[in-house]
Amino acid sequence: MEDRNPYILIVDDERGLRLGTQRLLQSEDFTVDTAENGTEGILLGTRNDYDLAIIDMKMPDIDGLEVLKEIKKARPNTVCFIATAFASYDTAIEATRIGAYSYIPKPFTPEELLHQLEKGYNQRVLTIEAEKLRKEREERLLELASEQSRLKTIINSISGGVLVVNKSGEVVYFNNAALKNLNLDSLTIGQYILDKIPEKATEIVSGFIDGATAENLTKSIQIELIKDTLFVEIICSTVLNNDSSFAGVVLIIRNITEMKKIELVKSQFVSMVAHELKTPVAAVQGFLKIILDDSIPITEDQQREYLSRSVGRLQGLLDLVNDLLDISRMELKTKQRELGSLRLKEILESTVQFLKFECEHKNIQVISGIPDNLPVLHADHNELTRLFTNIISNAIKYNIENGKIFITVTEEKHYLVIAISDTGIGLKEEDRKKLFHEFFRAKNEKTRGISGTGLGLTIVQRIVDSYHGKITVESEYGKGSTFKIYLPKTNK
Ligand code: ADP
Repeated sequence: MEDRNPYILIVDDERGLRLGTQRLLQSEDFTVDTAENGTEGILLGTRNDYDLAIIDMKMPDIDGLEVLKEIKKARPNTVCFIATAFASYDTAIEATRIGAYSYIPKPFTPEELLHQLEKGYNQRVLTIEAEKLRKEREERLLELASEQSRLKTIINSISGGVLVVNKSGEVVYFNNAALKNLNLDSLTIGQYILDKIPEKATEIVSGFIDGATAENLTKSIQIELIKDTLFVEIICSTVLNNDSSFAGVVLIIRNITEMKKIELVKSQFVSMVAHELKTPVAAVQGFLKIILDDSIPITEDQQREYLSRSVGRLQGLLDLVNDLLDISRMELKTKQRELGSLRLKEILESTVQFLKFECEHKNIQVISGIPDNLPVLHADHNELTRLFTNIISNAIKYNIENGKIFITVTEEKHYLVIAISDTGIGLKEEDRKKLFHEFFRAKNEKTRGISGTGLGLTIVQRIVDSYHGKITVESEYGKGSTFKIYLPKTNK
């Protein structure tokens, strides 16, 4: 505002004084507006942002104090003077209360006037400058506050725990995930961290706090909390000051329990596979050793029996390897699916036909009730054939001599339901629950002598899952079992 001329309003009903003052101020490079009464004064004074205003106290229409009040209300930074020949103590107090900067007694000399106006103008400059600074500060604070709350929201919504500790080991910042991932009920800013976090985590953090690890480094460890159920990984980074001195530590705490569980399942699976493979190999090795050992006298018949048992075990081994390969192909999705429109009736009938020899061997009768007009299924032929072969071959394998198998297909809401029942050995309740676990085979006097891999139903389950279907089993030990496969009708 220093760059432009002071902008002033003169409100006075005395024409001579008004114009005289105007001329004086214009000659001093003021920009001057004049108002010849209170009404016009209010109009101009509220509409324009004057630096200064000289308001005559006594005017015929509106009192000068009223004009002052209105101008200050609309333009609080306009520096106003009351000009009057009748100054009294009370009106001076009142005018100041309303916001007048000062009094100019009438009549005034040009010097007196200019001196007063200069003071007032300086005041105006200072006020506006202060106002500008205050606004800037407020804006900065506002920006800072919104930046901080934004950051806070972001940090609080990430799933990784964030915990910041200063060089004295006191908590400076943490998010909710940090509490959760460290299994803590609460933490307080300023709290000594080593007293709060699980023992294993203190090992890493203390190294940083006591200065043993001063350079900026990231460390990753896994700690185990609450009885093997929660595994976390902590990444520790030092926070350095501008002068590279140590300021504190940031901990990123990640929950890796799920990953750990998968790792565990994988290693359990590998050990189960190894065990399942070892058993038949060891058996065959045993038979061959006996045959080769001259010190063990065996008849030719015995030799033949050992060899044929070896062939049987090797066949089992081959079945196992094939099942494992199938599972792995499904997992890795290496085999391209060939989806086509399939008729369930045809697939089920050809599966039964394929297993005819096994049925005849045990004199098992297959009774099927499959409607002709079922909706076609959009599926892979080999997968469905494998699915039904596994279930129906079990219904034969775990059936009694002269038993029966019933196959029906019905429509239930958006599912096609294939029910395969047998009159076989059935399942005990505790075995029924574990039926789909890898390598599970019910062990009792009825299953003794029946060979298998324990992977058939695992494969069945995976195929059913891949079509977003479901499978249920009802069974009564000694009486028989019913497997129901639900496949969604519209599987495109
Ligand atoms: P397996 O190769 O042993 O048959 P599966 O995964 O197909 O492997 O079946 C797992 C176990 O479930 C079988 O060993 C058997 O104990 C039981 N089981 C499967 N189907 C039937 C059935 N229809 N009746 C009775 N038990 C069954």
